[in-house]
Amino acid sequence: MKAKTLIILLDGVSSKDFFKLYNSGELPNIKSFFDGGFIIKNLVSTFPSESQTCYPLIFYGIKLSETEEIAQMWYDRIKRQFIYLWDFFPIFRLHMKKEKHKSVFKGYGKALTVGLKETKDAGTYIPPFYVICGLSLSKLGILVDTAVIRNTPYLFNRYDSIMFSIYSCDHLLHSYGSKGLLTSLKNLDKNLGYIINNKKLKDKLNIFIFSDHGNSPLKGKFEIQKVLKENGYHLTRYLNEKKDVALVSNLLNYAFLYTKDNPENILKILSTYHQVGVVAYKNKKDNSVIISNTNGRAKIFKDNEKICYKTENGDPLEYKNYFKEENFTDIRLTKDEWIEKTLDSRFPYAVVRLYEVFENKDCGDIAISFDNGYCPNFSFTFNGRLKFTSKWPTFYYNHGGLERDQILSFLIANGEHIKSKKLKFAKLEDLYSIFKNYFEDIK
Ligand SMILES: [Zn+2]
Repeated sequence: MKAKTLIILLDGVSSKDFFKLYNSGELPNIKSFFDGGFIIKNLVSTFPSESQTCYPLIFYGIKLSETEEIAQMWYDRIKRQFIYLWDFFPIFRLHMKKEKHKSVFKGYGKALTVGLKETKDAGTYIPPFYVICGLSLSKLGILVDTAVIRNTPYLFNRYDSIMFSIYSCDHLLHSYGSKGLLTSLKNLDKNLGYIINNKKLKDKLNIFIFSDHGNSPLKGKFEIQKVLKENGYHLTRYLNEKKDVALVSNLLNYAFLYTKDNPENILKILSTYHQVGVVAYKNKKDNSVIISNTNGRAKIFKDNEKICYKTENGDPLEYKNYFKEENFTDIRLTKDEWIEKTLDSRFPYAVVRLYEVFENKDCGDIAISFDNGYCPNFSFTFNGRLKFTSKWPTFYYNHGGLERDQILSFLIANGEHIKSKKLKFAKLEDLYSIFKNYFEDIK
């Protein structure tokens, strides 16, 4: 009988949180199945570290510069509208959107995709109804996880592969903190126990579990709207005057600002706030990215295949300790070297991720990654034209920024067709070739 593949995407689980539970015995079924398999300890996510930004890299194999939707919320300069995944009737947008790209799962036997519109071309598709009706924000979300996982042995009678996107971990982290994550993962562990021990499936089942980005705890809000207004900026979606700003912020740990003003002026204001982790803009004259925060200021630019981090004063990304013997003021490394060198730092791989985000035409003129622990208030839009900001809800955990636990996720895989291998790190975009090679192998 043919190989059977179960791919589980866990939304928003950091490497740190996952392996803490994995190694402490809280997930006994998962541990017994995956130990000795293929493990990527740190999967380096992208910026903004949120699902909408991650998916095209994983499932279409394209670069961030090529994606049509840079994040779940951004500003369309031509339409002069806010584009938001959760705008008014999200289901409407899910239907409207045409996918231009072919997903990595297409063309490999009969597939069922639950909750992941990016891979619906692979076969039968069930939309994420459990997210749209808000179920995932409460503990009821895990009922859907149970229903799907428990039914996989029957579904495998019809399908060769099943891709299931579990949102309850991310959403319960937002709403309940680490207790919520434990609820979601323990439930998954219990349900996977039934499948792993299923006699019919044994010897042909391969399982992948991975996460697209991480999450980290929050302390409070940073009212970026107020700061901009106090400095004479006018928040609008029509950028006519110098001081007009279209602000994209939505409770996640990043923000984009679109403006006609010299971005240097806004960078100078925001970099004085400790709640701002990194503020950056692209200097169009020389294609460099200027970054700043209370720790200093630096310039990021490309020199052939190398990405350079040149400090102008201080060390905004706090990398100095990782470059002891070298001339620290001007570091030039390849992408892989940047991961290796900065993996243990507060901002792993941020030099490259910041450079890449500004290559996308829809990136703000200014991008902000908020300090670990702070995020702006919730904003929501109506038909892309009206934007409201509300003091609630408040999250316990959050992501979207460049902080390490938001950036570092993981992958574990095991089964008949999976070779034992341990990687200290890989890039999120490497998942595309990992899945492609796997499906080619079992074809
Ligand atoms: Zn989330």
